[in-house]
Amino acid sequence: MQALVLEQSEGKTVAVVKTLSPEALPAGEVTVDIDWSGLNYKDALAITGKGKIIRQFPMVPGIDFAGKVHHSEDPRFHTGQAVILTGWGVGENHWGGLAEQARVKGDWLVAMPEGLDGRRAMIIGTAGLTAMLCVMALEEGGITPEEGEIIVTGASGGVGSTAVALLSALGYQVVAVSGRESTHDYLRQLGARAILSREAFSADARPLEKQRWAGAIDTVGDKVLANVLAQMNYAGVVAACGLAGGFTLPTTVMPFILRNVRLQGVDSVNAPTARRVEAWKRLVKTLPADFYQQATREITLQEAPAGAMRLLNNEITGRTLVKIR
Ligand code: NDP
Repeated sequence: MQALVLEQSEGKTVAVVKTLSPEALPAGEVTVDIDWSGLNYKDALAITGKGKIIRQFPMVPGIDFAGKVHHSEDPRFHTGQAVILTGWGVGENHWGGLAEQARVKGDWLVAMPEGLDGRRAMIIGTAGLTAMLCVMALEEGGITPEEGEIIVTGASGGVGSTAVALLSALGYQVVAVSGRESTHDYLRQLGARAILSREAFSADARPLEKQRWAGAIDTVGDKVLANVLAQMNYAGVVAACGLAGGFTLPTTVMPFILRNVRLQGVDSVNAPTARRVEAWKRLVKTLPADFYQQATREITLQEAPAGAMRLLNNEITGRTLVKIR
């Protein structure tokens, strides 16, 4: 089988496509023939070595994949069944999806939801699943379309793009924050009614500013999130899932104690299976058909290292799909 393999050489991460024996795969109950994977921000950090994602080498990266069961010792899955995997540390500490096969625990797999196929599942990928979990967090915080505008930061990335498309399809008024002028047409096509520049959110945040947003989905962290928090409406809800701008949060308690703002963290890696199944069903139902064309570029396994570099250099919009076979 072909796999992208990460190794260490003189303290640096080297990524090369190699032919491996399937016998080298780690232990697990289900072996999957992978059709599609994707490039997520975390994959890009792992492949380039720019983030301390991988601690054991050699490692096959790829935090998500879609494929068909090759062999299963788990009675819940049968040969030929279409499945999806996202998270659970796969592609970080267990060989992942940027390979023709993976062997994983049955508990980590989700059966392909009705109405979805492997290609579209990986256009959604970990990024899209996370966007849906963020939307659910806003809904659970009581934010309906009538409450007011929703702001999405890092809007042209994988999570941000899917969040814009989902919120717009659900009837919310979406305002996108992007660092690039070149993304504006794309974001409008996805459903953003207005686009604000990242620069407007990059200064040191004041404790409180004029109230503007009923809800927020933040993929960026750092000063951008701090500025968003200061602008939230009374009882607004912020779903925070990312750190594309940095992992710090230079804020004050003022939005929380004076405006009743809720800051809800969102994690997809260890999300319980029932919640994943619900999120996948909602993604299939909610995403419009044209999302899958608008938000996708397709590459091969060999092109994954260059794609990872471009993703970290903020040169990509939407999702990067990796065609495995
Ligand atoms: P992408 O690289 O596709 O998107 C990130 C976007 O953030 C970019 O497109 C860009 O949008 C913006 N951005 C990039 N660099 C900076 C910067 N220096 N400062 C401010 N904004 C920046 O990544 P993903 O969408 O896949 O992931 C987004 C974040 O969410 C990542 O931090 C990732 O780790 C996290 N994540 C978390 C998950 C979880 O379970 N909690 C799961 C999946 C992702 P623009 O050009 O429009 O400004």
